[in-house]
Amino acid sequence: MSHYYTFTADDAVAFARQFGGLADPSGLVAAREVGDGNLNLVFKIFDESGVSRLVVKQALPYVRCVGESWPLTLDRARLEAQTLIEHHRHSPAHTVKIRHFEPALAAMVMDDLSDHRIWRGELIAGRHYPRAAAQLGRYLADALFHTSDFFLHPHEKKRQVAAFTNPEMCEITEDLFFTDPYQEQERNSYPPQLEADAAALRDDLPLHQAVAGLKHRFLSGAEALLHGDIHSGSIFVAEGSLKAIDAEFGYYGPVGFDIGTAIGNLLLNYCGAPGQLGLREAAAAREQRLVDIQTLWHTFQTQFLSLAHEKTRDAALAVPGYAALFLASVWRDAVGFCGTELIRRSVGLSHVADIDTIADEEMRHACLRHAIALGRALVVLAPRIDSVEALIARVRQYG
Ligand code: ADP
Ligand code: MG
Repeated sequence: MSHYYTFTADDAVAFARQFGGLADPSGLVAAREVGDGNLNLVFKIFDESGVSRLVVKQALPYVRCVGESWPLTLDRARLEAQTLIEHHRHSPAHTVKIRHFEPALAAMVMDDLSDHRIWRGELIAGRHYPRAAAQLGRYLADALFHTSDFFLHPHEKKRQVAAFTNPEMCEITEDLFFTDPYQEQERNSYPPQLEADAAALRDDLPLHQAVAGLKHRFLSGAEALLHGDIHSGSIFVAEGSLKAIDAEFGYYGPVGFDIGTAIGNLLLNYCGAPGQLGLREAAAAREQRLVDIQTLWHTFQTQFLSLAHEKTRDAALAVPGYAALFLASVWRDAVGFCGTELIRRSVGLSHVADIDTIADEEMRHACLRHAIALGRALVVLAPRIDSVEALIARVRQYG
């Protein structure tokens, strides 16, 4: 049994040779740490010709972007690897393949996706991947349906809920999404010019009540094995291809959380577009985001209903019309969670490049205000926004 130590580049090469499953592992000769993430080490492993062949990811025992003063469980590597392995079983085309996971080292080796790009950067640059929204909807339907009570035997489901209990990572979401933005909290981060907007969020009982309902759902609604952090920075795209990575927030939670996070990040891009692109390009990108959101939801819904029709095992859940009723509640949750994503990315600890990299300060502040106002409206009005078309109408109403 090896004990945990932090990998050097040489350690990462040795790990990839041992566990990468390549026919000629001795051809792996070098590694470079490329992690731009907030939490972990990520190494690309190169062969003699300088081609990246595998990726090794190792969890650190603390939050990388904060330092050793914020310790964080190494068990998140297990949860990440096992969530991705489970999702890969149900959606192999849209999940990065984990080749090996080593618990003691909190390390995994996975397929290299250097021929893909992180979707967020592509969205910001105005580069469109025509199939991405549908592929994301398909991924979420396949992964979430097959880990839900519609598909799993109740005993197996309960075993899975236990195996994927992820208290420390969930606590981060519980704080950052549902608590911090609504109170004075030193982790919060926003420009001083937005103080009045942030103060209004702290003094808004109807908003707090709606957020309480969403947090309660997040705490208690063990519907399916979520990705848990499916924002556009956890998604690789290439022409005709989309793959989810980075599932260390995976746990059994409400299906609407993953849908809401995904839609929320498309809306954050919508809010930031005028600061990133020229006038006409930005208008086109915005229209495209609205189409993407429609496509994502409709694909998810159609695929989930079709799986439910074919594969629901439980006699009560299989009753005609029930899957559609369930999806109506998923949708309401998703709209609310989407609103919390817009708010927490604007005034909370962690922001998105779609808005944060806007050079013009006034424009950046206007985009942040837009995201806050839209986010608040979605959280509070979620029970009345009963279709994706109604969501789009609301988005248009808020500019
Ligand atoms: P963190 O958990 O620290 O956020 P990520 O899993 O998001 O780490 O990875 C950080 C970065 O490393 C990604 O944005 C991407 O640039 C790179 N990366 C991660 N996984 C792969 C992969 N399988 N292939 C190529 N690059 C990857
Ligand atoms: Mg990441």
